[in-house]
Amino acid sequence: MGKLDGKAAIITGSAKGIGRAIAVAFAKHGADLLLITRSTPLDRLAETCRAHGSNVECITADISDPAQALAAIETCKDVFGKVDILVNNAGIARDGLLVRMKDHDFELVLKTNLTGSFNCLRAATKIMMKQRYGRIINISSVAGQMGNVGQINYSAAKAGLIGMTKSAAKELASRSITVNAIAPGFIATDMTNAMSDRAKEEALKLIPMGRLGDVDDIAAGALFLASDDAAYVTGHTLSINGGMYM
Ligand code: NAD
Repeated sequence: MGKLDGKAAIITGSAKGIGRAIAVAFAKHGADLLLITRSTPLDRLAETCRAHGSNVECITADISDPAQALAAIETCKDVFGKVDILVNNAGIARDGLLVRMKDHDFELVLKTNLTGSFNCLRAATKIMMKQRYGRIINISSVAGQMGNVGQINYSAAKAGLIGMTKSAAKELASRSITVNAIAPGFIATDMTNAMSDRAKEEALKLIPMGRLGDVDDIAAGALFLASDDAAYVTGHTLSINGGMYM
């Protein structure tokens, strides 16, 4: 028995990294999947998930565009008849020190990480409210909890996601819709590969466990929050960070 048997789940930004790991974990636990990618084809990921017995639909959309986000979320309802789970995972970083931060980089990071998640949240919520059931998981970051040098834009967006999670949790609790966030620490993906060696060394010094996290560490947290095991958990931010921030 999978923990998500018969559930229909949407995962944004699922082409690689954390989103990909969550897709595979959900497939292993019986969910049908609507996978959203901005541009990278998802054929191989879809094949992997189907091998676990999942029905999979892939769609290309830029979630920072409200119309594209809405169309993508509605595709899940059209194909699977419902939307049980939404994982707002798509995100970008455009790092730079505060005094040098370009308007464009500040706005793009807010527009993708925060507004993009809101676009999907609003669209999915309309469907979930009618169902009187839903699980929403917003992928925030330790940077949104403790701040980070060179990430004024990213930290603001990820802290905003935590506030958004709590407000939505309060609005939707009476409809059996839970809304939670995950705040990963430093996880080995393309996003952290882009950091300089010096920044990586400095980051490792902050992690009591002395290593970067794995994408599967985050997928395990997402699986818990998406499952009925977490039916009474809402408005929570689950830190998965090797002790980096407590
Ligand atoms: P990644 O760069 O490997 O993957 C991000 C995915 O989001 C990509 O597939 C990308 O195409 C997609 N995406 C970006 N903008 C999009 C848009 N406008 N529309 C649709 N898709 C879009 O990154 P990752 O490390 O796997 O990160 C996944 C999430 O976890 C992000 O929200 C990130 O901020 C967060 N996070 C990552 C870490 C880490 O250490 N890797 C730490 C904390 C939080």
